Amino acid sequence: LFSQLMAQPIGILGGTFDPVHHGHLRLALEVFEALQLQEVRLIPAKNPPHRNTPVADSRHRSAMLQQAINGTRGLVIDERELHREGNSYTVDSVADIRAEAGDQPLCLIMGMDAFQALDTWHRWQQLTDFVHIVVVNRPGSDAEITQADIAALYTARKTGRIEDLNRRPAGYIFKIRLPMLDISSTRIRDLLQAQQNIRYLVPDDVLAYITKEQLYQ
Ligand code: ATP
Ligand code: MG
Repeated sequence: LFSQLMAQPIGILGGTFDPVHHGHLRLALEVFEALQLQEVRLIPAKNPPHRNTPVADSRHRSAMLQQAINGTRGLVIDERELHREGNSYTVDSVADIRAEAGDQPLCLIMGMDAFQALDTWHRWQQLTDFVHIVVVNRPGSDAEITQADIAALYTARKTGRIEDLNRRPAGYIFKIRLPMLDISSTRIRDLLQAQQNIRYLVPDDVLAYITKEQLYQ
């Protein structure tokens, strides 16, 4: 009875989605199912400060996400970073969502490559004030945490119990192994530059959009 009274967590997946691909979409859906989330919010970043400027502008990246999700139950787009001036900081977005969500648990989802670089993010040590962090294996990315400060945060916050993500609104780090696809936006952009076919790496509607708008040429 008690567990039924607790709110399901909301998942949050930020990214540049430049372009969105089946790796992102399966990541979102696998975590949605595995953690029985209420929904996963995909948040396209406008102007991510810790990496190169996206190739496609945010209007296109968001339109491609829309095409990709196309009504899939459990997946929604959250455009709050596109409407904010200046840099897109994940910590600001999760603080906003926390203010809206009351005590409902929030799970910030990221691949191991993103987690390994967490110490380059603005106010990264404060993320767990607002959210749990769910770290998913990514093909081609190291399974071990190498950076000492990140390893320390992980040791202090880790849990192996999935129920902990429902028990508290924020604060845990949960590593989960899921069958992930070895697809990256970088490789897709490289293939397009080389005039090669990216079909089956992205949804057909995303490929059609890229072709129509002549993106990544
Ligand atoms: P780029 O090559 O431009 O960096 P990307 O494919 O890494 O693009 P991002 O938008 O940087 O995509 O990734 C957003 C989030 O999705 C990150 O947390 C990243 O770890 C995760 N992610 C992306 N692709 C995969 C994948 N194939 N498997 C698991 N996680 C993924
Ligand atoms: Mg990336």
